[in-house]
Amino acid sequence: MCGCGKLIEVAVQTRYSAKMIKVRCGNTSPHGSPFLCEKCEEINAGRDWRREAELNGEQWDDDY
Ligand SMILES: [Zn+2]
Repeated sequence: MCGCGKLIEVAVQTRYSAKMIKVRCGNTSPHGSPFLCEKCEEINAGRDWRREAELNGEQWDDDY
């Protein structure tokens, strides 16, 4: 998994509003994508999300 394990504060959507919770960077959110600190978000931009996109039916090419 991605994420450095650093404690971060994230906003999660509740039924009527949003609340702030403390999670570790790399934890999977209820929405399926991982919670990441800003740094890891930059590092991991375009990684696991591509796999999700693929599962959602989007096509993308491996180019090495
Ligand atoms: Zn991190």
